[in-house]
Amino acid sequence: MSTIADNLQAVRRRISEALQGDTRTVTLVAVSKAKPAEALREAFVAGARDFGESYVQEALPKLASLRDLGATWHFIGHLQGNKARDVARGFDWVHGVDRARLAAALSKARPAELGKLNVCVQVNISGEATKGGVAPTDALALAREVAALPNLALRGLMGMAAPMEDLAAQRREFALLRRVRDEIVAAGLALDTLSMGMSDDFEAAIAEGSTMVRVGTAIFGARDSRAAPAQAAAQSDPGPRRDDGRA
Ligand SMILES: *Cc1c(COP(=O)(O)O)cnc(C)c1O
Repeated sequence: MSTIADNLQAVRRRISEALQGDTRTVTLVAVSKAKPAEALREAFVAGARDFGESYVQEALPKLASLRDLGATWHFIGHLQGNKARDVARGFDWVHGVDRARLAAALSKARPAELGKLNVCVQVNISGEATKGGVAPTDALALAREVAALPNLALRGLMGMAAPMEDLAAQRREFALLRRVRDEIVAAGLALDTLSMGMSDDFEAAIAEGSTMVRVGTAIFGARDSRAAPAQAAAQSDPGPRRDDGRA
């Protein structure tokens, strides 16, 4: 078995252990940013069906060369308005919607024949300035705006915890996202997705109700530290924020 196949199996085992007998489905998004198309193909052969990409420029040629797989594509990075069209046409999910204008641009650019684009509103649960997302208190208002757009399907919330070793501390941040989800559901919006958990904290996220984990390093190995920032810098306005989940 290949390393990627081994890793995938190990991550799947950790997910089912973290569920502790709970029968809910946790979707594993294999985060393939900064990895070549062949690595994604290998993961697909080993059973991966959902892939996460963060950089539009890097992702588009990979999506094109892997169209035959029929995989589900998740855009998980910070999205600039001028790239909304590419993402709305090429991807199935966008996890980082953090402003109404971006949501409107995505809805406008989504071709009707592709069906609705699945959207998670990103919430800043760690309070770090380096992380994107709306403040927890603004999430309901943005969720309402997304739900009202014709070509978007509001699915849930996405959040990232600060890098922390301590399981209890990780759980506290993920619990905040779960509470925001519960408030939005109580306000009458249907949400079925909590996108939270990465290689170093997905067990904590699952313990707090995650339904979708975004795991890169634990499947594909460490990213070349030069690769992803170079891709980000190649975009016209990378801004102060890095979207690889690390401050
Ligand atoms: C890169 C990234 C991940 C995956 O991070 P790993 O630590 O490699 O598992 C998950 N979510 C987002 C938003 C990312 O940018």
